Amino acid sequence: MKAVRVHSPGGPDALRFEDVPEPVAKAGEAVVKIDAAGVNYIDVHLRTGLHKQDLPFTIGFEAGGTVAAVGPNVTEVKVGDPVAYTGVLGAYAQSAAVPAARLVRLPAGVSTKQGAAAMLQGMTAHYLASATYPLKPGDACLIHAAAGGVGLLLCQIAKLRGARVIATVSTDDKARLARGAGADDVILYTAQDFEAEVRRLTGGKGVQVVYDGVGKTTFDKGLNCLAPRGMMVLFGQSSGPVGSFDPSVLNAKGSLFLTRPSLFHHIATRDELLARAGDVLAWIRDGKLKLRMETEFALKDAAEAHRALEARKTTGKVLLVP
Ligand code: NDP
Repeated sequence: MKAVRVHSPGGPDALRFEDVPEPVAKAGEAVVKIDAAGVNYIDVHLRTGLHKQDLPFTIGFEAGGTVAAVGPNVTEVKVGDPVAYTGVLGAYAQSAAVPAARLVRLPAGVSTKQGAAAMLQGMTAHYLASATYPLKPGDACLIHAAAGGVGLLLCQIAKLRGARVIATVSTDDKARLARGAGADDVILYTAQDFEAEVRRLTGGKGVQVVYDGVGKTTFDKGLNCLAPRGMMVLFGQSSGPVGSFDPSVLNAKGSLFLTRPSLFHHIATRDELLARAGDVLAWIRDGKLKLRMETEFALKDAAEAHRALEARKTTGKVLLVP
């Protein structure tokens, strides 16, 4: 079968579309025939070597498809089930052997492509808004890169929880998408000073939480957007890593909180995985959470998908179709 592998870290051309052996389900595993793999920014960090991984490896952390085979001692799924998963490396492929305990059976009304689009970014938006800083009516939040994969979902979930959403994006087209996802105010952070705008929009009070997946270019100013005792949630680094940090800054800027969370600590047990995925998939089925799935590439064109993501040309979800 075909898969996209990395033999040595580098640019998009480090993604090699090549033949690999068919996966076999060992005890506790299921083989998933993949209908779509999700492209996520973490894939870029793995490809470049910012996140270390033993070489060579099949890249990709998210997919949806159908169970084609199960190994011994599998109780969670059966052959023919539509499933989706995240957190297991090797999704840029036609098939993958996955620990069955990581698979989520999709409810009727949610396609395997939607499953592939929802698992990583959807559950991330879910834990950020409901566990890291549980938003409530009366709160205001700042969401950076709001037209991105996590961003559009986080805007919608923040609105479901009753918060005011101030969003940042780089272009007018992305601003329209962020507004469509419920953002109350949108700032073009490539043209406007987002710190001054947040101060103006909140009457000088600041926001209770900043959700920052951009990192290097937004982190310092984001701290100045927080109300006293507010929380900086640094969950990504699409513009590059934030440098070293002096904790006394948190005191000086108003007894702030700083956290650097990861999805994988929020779906560590099967119960938590099923609960979080269950919420996200039910919202999708019921039309409360809309997925934007306009950008699809063939699996063999994974390098093009990475180029588009890194050039800030994508909005919402990017999928690879084997
Ligand atoms: P996105 O779809 O949000 O794509 C990245 C976006 O970041 C771009 O579209 C762009 O939006 C913005 N951006 C700003 N500066 C840059 C830059 N210099 N280069 C590239 N992009 C830039 O990606 P994802 O939704 O997949 O991920 C968003 C972030 O969240 C990533 O940092 C990712 O690693 C992180 N993440 C963290 C998780 C966790 O649990 N900690 C889980 C999932 C994702 P614009 O043009 O509007 O500026």
